[in-house]
Amino acid sequence: MSDHALPNLLLNDFSGDNLLKLPSNFYKTARSYLDKRSLKKIQKAYSVAFYAHLNQKRRDGSKYISHPEEVAMILLDLKMDTDSICSALLHDVLEDCDVTKNNLQNLFGPDVAEIVDGVSKLGKLDIKSGTEREVNNLQKMMLAMSKDVRVVLVKICDRLHNMRTIEHLPRFKQIQKSKETIELYGPLALRIGMQDIRSELEDLAFRCIHPLRASMLESAIKKSSGGRKKIVTKIRKELKRRLKSNGIEDVAVKGREKNIYSIYRKIKSKHKPFSEILDVYGFRILVDSVDDCYRSLGIIHNYFSPIENRFKDYIAIPKSNGYQALHTSLLALNAFPIEVQIQTRNMSSIASFGIAAHWQYKTKEENISSGLRATKWLTGLVDLQKKTNTPAEFAQSVKTDLSSDEVYLFSPKGDIYALRKGATPIDFAYEVHTDLGDTIIGCRVNRNDVPLNIELETGQTVEIISSKKDFELDPSWLNYVVTSKARSAIRTRLRKQKTSDARKAGKVLLETELKRGGKSLSEYRGTPLKRILDSIGVTSLNKLLTDLGLGKRTGSIIAERFYSGLKIREDIKEINPVLILDNKIESVTVRFAKCCMPVYGDDVVAHSDTERGIVIHHKRCKQVSQFLKKDSRYLPAIWGENKKEHQYKAKIDINTEDKVGVLSDLGSVFARSAINIGSVNTMTIDKKFAGFEIEIEVKDKEELQNIMQKVRSMKLTTSCKRNINEK
Ligand code: MN
Repeated sequence: MSDHALPNLLLNDFSGDNLLKLPSNFYKTARSYLDKRSLKKIQKAYSVAFYAHLNQKRRDGSKYISHPEEVAMILLDLKMDTDSICSALLHDVLEDCDVTKNNLQNLFGPDVAEIVDGVSKLGKLDIKSGTEREVNNLQKMMLAMSKDVRVVLVKICDRLHNMRTIEHLPRFKQIQKSKETIELYGPLALRIGMQDIRSELEDLAFRCIHPLRASMLESAIKKSSGGRKKIVTKIRKELKRRLKSNGIEDVAVKGREKNIYSIYRKIKSKHKPFSEILDVYGFRILVDSVDDCYRSLGIIHNYFSPIENRFKDYIAIPKSNGYQALHTSLLALNAFPIEVQIQTRNMSSIASFGIAAHWQYKTKEENISSGLRATKWLTGLVDLQKKTNTPAEFAQSVKTDLSSDEVYLFSPKGDIYALRKGATPIDFAYEVHTDLGDTIIGCRVNRNDVPLNIELETGQTVEIISSKKDFELDPSWLNYVVTSKARSAIRTRLRKQKTSDARKAGKVLLETELKRGGKSLSEYRGTPLKRILDSIGVTSLNKLLTDLGLGKRTGSIIAERFYSGLKIREDIKEINPVLILDNKIESVTVRFAKCCMPVYGDDVVAHSDTERGIVIHHKRCKQVSQFLKKDSRYLPAIWGENKKEHQYKAKIDINTEDKVGVLSDLGSVFARSAINIGSVNTMTIDKKFAGFEIEIEVKDKEELQNIMQKVRSMKLTTSCKRNINEK
């Protein structure tokens, strides 16, 4: 075969003749439990992997294919299904080889393609800060990203083989990989219930990081095991004899081996000397049925005295990773504290091999697709690592964890955040920091601009674009968030916004009133100001201004207090109008009244409204004209020069002859002048005439008058009037 044989082979499919032979021990193990068709598929996967990695070498100089081959071997030993084995063989071909996901899909079907793709993606995740929260989220993210649990399984076996051959890496990489293994892959293996692989991963990593401590521990264990052996054998035989004589026939009793890392961890965390930790003798009793488990428990409690409060029933209430057993502690032969685990053989196998064992037991019985079954099993395990004390608590934790689906997201720096499913960029921003949420104006997901209300998906990188400028928050955001953190932050912000608007409006009102007496608020400070506030009965100026803005107090009365406070009274002057600049009065955003719809250039009045802040009305609008002189909350206003382009809504009433096509004629008049129509209300006046109430958008009074002139000049128009809600 030439170096370039691969692309052709991939295109033409491996049909038989050009398949490579499987290595002999590999073939033997596979043949022991897989049928011919499966073997053929595995052979095909082996061949593709072989050619894909043809020119690559491992660090120790061996051919690269030896790595995927070994990873697949681990899975073969676990008796995993054909697609898992194929995926293990192919797990590295998407990296640096000329193979695409599509190629895999065509050759091996969607399952293998998805698993291999998933494994490659997991390979790109790594630990940044190493905090417990990050590692925990990273694990959950890996599980969530792996829609098929076999992805995690292959990834863990990949890591296991890399750890077995870690000596070929440079030292700093060894340390890095080992730490990652202890923090991430060990717990991940435990999460999917693979206790044996977890122990091996941890021991390999521990030996790599602390070679000296590991070898000291190992030799200490060896030394102590001489004397121990006798005792262990004695207790083991005694246990077995008692059980058998009480009718538990098919029973095995084993001394339990502890992995060195778990001993090390105990020494470190419990600050107990080595001897004490090793002096607890562990036994495992294996029986055939759940019934026998409970009976065995009763029997041994009869002969050895139980140590109080050490009994745990993980059969009735399994651990979150599926682990089941009865745990008890006893005093054996009146002298030795022992820990006993009682399980069925099935439970024991699941505890050691997790999902893999589950696979074997279920494959023959069930007919559902293997991927789906795996996912179901996984769903039962993921994210349930909470300590629970009562069955009710356990049931509750299962329920909430399964129903509250989460999504896992990256910040641009690579930090991981877990959010409720349905979360939007706004939720994400508030999760990162309240300040970020308060200033969000845009968002990029995987470097593409997206709207703020999209639903985020696991694995996405979310970049929040924030504004340094203060802006008014949109209350509709409350509809776009699902997290309580975001919701309460937005509510707080909206409340603040309302009072700050009111305060600003109140200031405008008071300043305007004071101007009438030739005064300004800035002239009032310190003790005189305090005295005035006391006489009014408020605690602070801000409170007073807010009250004024909300219409709880009257400006002119308050102003009187201020005048008397300074004990100077000049002649009251005509009130000065407030200035509307870019739709703001003194930086308070104003609203335009819907009743009269004033446009730029109209004679207007500013009204400080209790609920809405400052509202601008047309001077002749009946809502305001009658109050203008009497109520200090109605201020004359004038327009400043608008620097920004604003559009103002206006209402006009048009009467026409009622002929076919009159509305479309009207429409085209507005269209030709590029004027937007907001809404049209049509009324029949009588047989001959029709009326239209039309809402349009104009930039000022002049443009409004021009367009009205054009409407009037139409042949069918009989009248065209502005509607400003006059009496
Ligand atoms: Mn690999």
